[in-house]
Amino acid sequence: MYRGGGGGGSLKGGGEIFDRKRIIDALDKHLEKSSPSTSKKPPAAAAGKQHNHLDHRDTRSSSTGNKNRGPDDESETDSGESDVSGSDGDDTFWISWFCNLRGNEFFCEVDDEYIQDDFNLCGLSSQVPYYDYALDLILDVNTSLGDTLTEEQNDLVESAAEMLYGLIHVRYILTTKGMAAMLEKYKNYDFGRCPRVYCCGQPCLPVGQSDIPRLSAVKIYCPKCEDIYYPRSKYQGNIDSAYFGTTFPHLFLMTYGNLKPQKPTQSYTPRVFGFKLHKP
Ligand SMILES: [Zn+2]
Repeated sequence: MYRGGGGGGSLKGGGEIFDRKRIIDALDKHLEKSSPSTSKKPPAAAAGKQHNHLDHRDTRSSSTGNKNRGPDDESETDSGESDVSGSDGDDTFWISWFCNLRGNEFFCEVDDEYIQDDFNLCGLSSQVPYYDYALDLILDVNTSLGDTLTEEQNDLVESAAEMLYGLIHVRYILTTKGMAAMLEKYKNYDFGRCPRVYCCGQPCLPVGQSDIPRLSAVKIYCPKCEDIYYPRSKYQGNIDSAYFGTTFPHLFLMTYGNLKPQKPTQSYTPRVFGFKLHKP
C-alpha cells in the first residue's frame, strides 16, 4: 500500500539512478520495520505535517500580522481536516497544506483519484526531478522518507513536488471536476478583480502566457475587458504560468457561458482642460 497506484516507488527515468536505488532500498527496509500496515502515513510524520500546515495557514489567514493564534483558532479553521491523520480518508494533507500557503491562493485542490491515475500523469516523470519522491510527498505516501534523505535532498524533493503539483494542476483544471473547483474559487474572488475602473470589480481568472515551465509568471485575465494583468500579490506573481496554462480561462468561460460578462460599455477618455485630445 505504500507504493499504491503502481506509480509510486519504481525507478523511472532521470539521472541519479544509483543514488536513488540505494535510498529506496534503505527506505523500504526502514518502512518494513517501522510502519503499521493499517495507517496510510506514520502518525509522527502526520503530526509534523499538521503542525507545519497550521503554521502556514495562520500566516496566510492573518495578513495583518497576528501570527501567533491560539489553539482555539486552529481548531476552528481546521475543523474539516483534523480527522485526516491516521485515517485512510481521501483528503490529501500535503495538497491542502500547499494550497493554503501564502501566494498559492490560485491553486485548487486536485483530487487524489486524479493523481493516482497514471494516465493523467503521462509524460511528467521526465519533466520533474525526483519524480517518485515528489509524487509520494504529494499523495502523503511514505512521509517517513524525509528521515532518510539528507536535508538538501529533502529540499529538492519539496521543490520537485511543487513543480509536479503545478504540472498536474494545469491538466486537472481543464477537467470537469477541476473546473468546478475553480468555479468555486472564482465565485469567491480568489483570483482577484480587474484593476480597470470601468470593469467595475469584475472577478478575474488565472492565465498563463506560456505552457512551458519557467518562462513566465501567472497573470490574471479579465473576462470583461479581455485583457491580462499582474496579480495583486507579489507572492502570486511568482507562480509559474505553466501551472495554469494558456487555455484555462477561455475554456472555463466556454464551459460556464453564463459567467461571460457583457463587454464594458464605458471607456476612459483623456481630457486636457475639459477638451478631448485630438488623435493624430
Ligand atoms: Zn477588466
